[in-house]
Amino acid sequence: MTVQRRRVGVMGGTFDPIHHGHLVAASEVAARFELDEVVFVPTGQSSFKQDQDVSPAEHRYLMTVIATASNPRFTTSRVDIDRAGLTYTVDTLRDLRSERPDVDLFFITGADAIEQIAGWKDAEELWEMAHFVAVSRPGHTLSVAALPPSVVSALEIPALAISSTDCRARAKAGDPVWYLVPDGVVQYIAKYGLYRESAVKVAS
Ligand code: ATP
Ligand code: MG
Repeated sequence: MTVQRRRVGVMGGTFDPIHHGHLVAASEVAARFELDEVVFVPTGQSSFKQDQDVSPAEHRYLMTVIATASNPRFTTSRVDIDRAGLTYTVDTLRDLRSERPDVDLFFITGADAIEQIAGWKDAEELWEMAHFVAVSRPGHTLSVAALPPSVVSALEIPALAISSTDCRARAKAGDPVWYLVPDGVVQYIAKYGLYRESAVKVAS
């Protein structure tokens, strides 16, 4: 009898805050690729966002836990926020691989992020560690033509023109973020005054 290997999606992101665009992307890839689990991995210090003001990792991690809690197939990992230094996807995949040696990994990324992928650290090694799934995102052309088809798939998903940048700007201006992010995340942002000038600190 052949036992099917577990299929595990990996959804990396800054998640500052996590929003329904992220959750729909993960859900669609999980359905199309028959994934058993999707692990959401909030980044530590992203190499692409070094010049930006990013919320403390603990806030981003907790919002991700809240957003994924109701889905039995969604989990949240601390591998990136617990590793010192900049976050590189190759390290994320190595750590998840050592925790789960016998699974097939599917790295989920949006159309904007896949464009940077060839320039990622250890790009060649990445292709061997996971299958990459690039999902469509409003405002970005989904193009994986430059990448080997055996390692990258493109997937059209329901278009949600939501970005964390816009959610932060709305929260800062006092505009609603209801229905852009899960209810618990709306309440978490309000509770800690995130994205206001004087956000409440958590241990980080
Ligand atoms: P920011 O505006 O701060 O960059 P973001 O909304 O782009 O935030 P990230 O945490 O940077 O969110 O994104 C994590 C991953 O989710 C990336 O691969 C990104 O392309 C993808 N993604 C983000 N928003 C969407 C969306 N609305 N539809 C599809 N994919 C998305
Ligand atoms: Mg982004």
